[in-house]
Amino acid sequence: MNPGPIYVYKCPNCSNLITKMSLLSGNTFGAKQFSDGKQVARMLPEFPNLTKCKKCNTIFWLNKLKEIGSYRWGEENSKWAKADSAEFLTIEEYFIAITKGVAENKGEELFIRQHLWWVYNDRIRNGQKIFNDKNDEMRWKKNLIELLNLLNRQNIFRRILNLPNKSAVNDKIMKAEIYRNLGDFENCIRIIQSIDNQGMNWLKVQFVKECERKNRWVIEF
Ligand SMILES: [Zn+2]
Repeated sequence: MNPGPIYVYKCPNCSNLITKMSLLSGNTFGAKQFSDGKQVARMLPEFPNLTKCKKCNTIFWLNKLKEIGSYRWGEENSKWAKADSAEFLTIEEYFIAITKGVAENKGEELFIRQHLWWVYNDRIRNGQKIFNDKNDEMRWKKNLIELLNLLNRQNIFRRILNLPNKSAVNDKIMKAEIYRNLGDFENCIRIIQSIDNQGMNWLKVQFVKECERKNRWVIEF
C-alpha cells in the first residue's frame, strides 16, 4: 500500500479544517468480498466522500469541495495540525443526510441509501445484532424499499437512453440481495437467475443456496 497526499478541506459552513487521506496504489490481497457488494481490503482502504463536520455537524460531499492544501503522509503538518480527519457517517447521520436533502440528485440518493444499507450490514460483519429495536428495523426496511425503487428507475433510464449494460449485472445482484435481506427469496432467485453471464455462475449458485437455507443476511464469499 502506497499512501498518496493528505488533502485538506474547509467545512463549507464554519470553515473548520478537515483532512482526507488518499492512495497512490494498493491491492486487494486478502480482501473480503460480501454479498451486498461491499469489499473490505486492508491494503486498499477507502476514504469517505460524504462526511460530517465535527464542529458544526454539517454533512457535505468532500468531492464537491476544492482542497485548500495538501501534505505528504508522515510529513510534519504544523499548518494543518488542528484539522479533523474525515470519517464515514454513522447510521443516524446517513438518515439525517436523507432528511436534510444532502442528495441533490437520484444518483447521490442512491449512494447514500446504499451506504446506509452497508452500515447496517456492518453490524453483522462486526458480530453484532442488525437491529436495536422494532423502529430501527422499520426504517431499515423503508430504506431498502427506496433503494429498490432507485435501482428500478435507473434501469428504466438505462433502457430509454440505450446506455451500455455494463452495470446492469451489478444492479441485478444488488436487487437480488436486497430481496433476500427482505426475506423475499422468490424474487431474489428470479432476479439472480435472469443474469445471463457465465462468469457469474458461482455467484448465482451461492445466492440460490442461501435462499434454499432461508438465510436472509449478508454473507462473505
Ligand atoms: Zn463546520
